[in-house]
Amino acid sequence: MKQEKIFERLLQVLARYTQERESGNFVDYLEPELLRQRLHLEQQGQQGDWDALFDWVEQYLAYAVKTNHPGYVNRMWAGANPPSIIGEMVAAITNTSACTYETAPVSTLMEKYMLQTMLDLVGFNNGSGQMTTGSSNANMIAMMAARNTLSGDIKNKGLFGRPELFGFVNADAHYSMDRAANILGLGAEHLIKIPVDEHGRMRVEVLEQEIERVVADGGIPFWVAATAGTTVRGAYDQIEPLITLRDRYRFWLHVDGAWGGAVIFSETLRQQFLPLLEQADSFTLDFHKMLGTALMCNVLLFNRRPYVLREVCSAGDESYIFREGDDGEVRDLGTMSLQCGRRVDSLKWFLDWKFYGQAGLAARVEKYLELCHYAEEQIAQSDDLELVVPRESFNLCFRFRPPQGGELAAFTTALRNRLHRSGQTLVGTGLVNGELVMRLLITNVNVDKPEIDAFFRAVISTGRAMLAEGSGLESTH
Ligand SMILES: *Cc1c(COP(=O)(O)O)cnc(C)c1O
Repeated sequence: MKQEKIFERLLQVLARYTQERESGNFVDYLEPELLRQRLHLEQQGQQGDWDALFDWVEQYLAYAVKTNHPGYVNRMWAGANPPSIIGEMVAAITNTSACTYETAPVSTLMEKYMLQTMLDLVGFNNGSGQMTTGSSNANMIAMMAARNTLSGDIKNKGLFGRPELFGFVNADAHYSMDRAANILGLGAEHLIKIPVDEHGRMRVEVLEQEIERVVADGGIPFWVAATAGTTVRGAYDQIEPLITLRDRYRFWLHVDGAWGGAVIFSETLRQQFLPLLEQADSFTLDFHKMLGTALMCNVLLFNRRPYVLREVCSAGDESYIFREGDDGEVRDLGTMSLQCGRRVDSLKWFLDWKFYGQAGLAARVEKYLELCHYAEEQIAQSDDLELVVPRESFNLCFRFRPPQGGELAAFTTALRNRLHRSGQTLVGTGLVNGELVMRLLITNVNVDKPEIDAFFRAVISTGRAMLAEGSGLESTH
């Protein structure tokens, strides 16, 4: 088959899928064993058989989760923005690596342009940045920058024979912080979890006590990460008191805005949730979460440190690949990266940015917050539902009202699973103060008030049906 014909055929398949993906069930769910039988993955292929290839594509789509579906309220991301999908397709067709200017000229300039645009938006002066594979990686690179700027020796000599380093995070911080501490040779016990107040924010007075304790024991407090929107509760750590502490103890202050950092597009929401962000040392934000860019798409920004990435990341003999710019400027972005091959992520973000603009993205985030407020009211008005903790921002931690005498967590899990298996809706769960809650996240442009109503109707009718049957109440031993 000619190449053009292949793409014509693919586009027909995709157009049909796109029409169907917002209706019906969000998934045709099968348990792994059954799905494995249906897929016949071991079936021999006919060499060069395009019809067989398209059958595989159809199979994939038949059992794929429709993340655009309004019932998909499970994760911090949902179906992607069409401009970014176009960017992804073009990136796939041109198949290059964004590590050198030679192989990726336009993408290199787009990435630099986007980084500067984001630095300006955040208010970081004389800064630098990088598009990474996501906030997990960005948190690690920021921690590595903090570690290596502590002393120029660490990059070459490691942590041997030095005072012990300690980092501090919100007890509800993302697990990528623990992984970073592990990878970077600190050890997970050197990442100290600070208990939270009733809003889910780090208790600053406890943080200070812990820092004092570390210093008294001869350790070095080198890193504090504020979370802007904790993963389960949506709490925003306060930056102002952390800046005061930083002035005293000289640690690196990072802000993990993977989820809630999206408020920076809206002047009012930024004032409300992230005042003084411009004084942090580094900041990460996922475009692929609330902002809807196709997965994965992230930016990591550094304040007042134009060369930090290169100093921190660049290592080994790279002479076979990277070239210096004429004016000493970084020409090849790969020299500042921990990867060699780099996917072209700049194009999709650039296209979203041009298509929606700051105003469009601000309006989206503001709308999500309004919808969260609406959803909160629906929970308050329902006899069947309850909020487990007050809403801090975009996350709603709620549950079906505990049935008398039943195992609460087991019931919540069973209810959530029934909603999932029936293909009606997928909602996440998580622990808040040790209690299992359903976590509603609205980050899907196909969700509006009627879809929120339908979501709660599904939760309530399924929960009531389970109570009537007496199911989901068995204890989980
Ligand atoms: C999602 C999330 C992360 C991880 O981001 P990835 O891009 O998925 O690696 C980190 N921190 C917080 C607060 C998050 O919500």
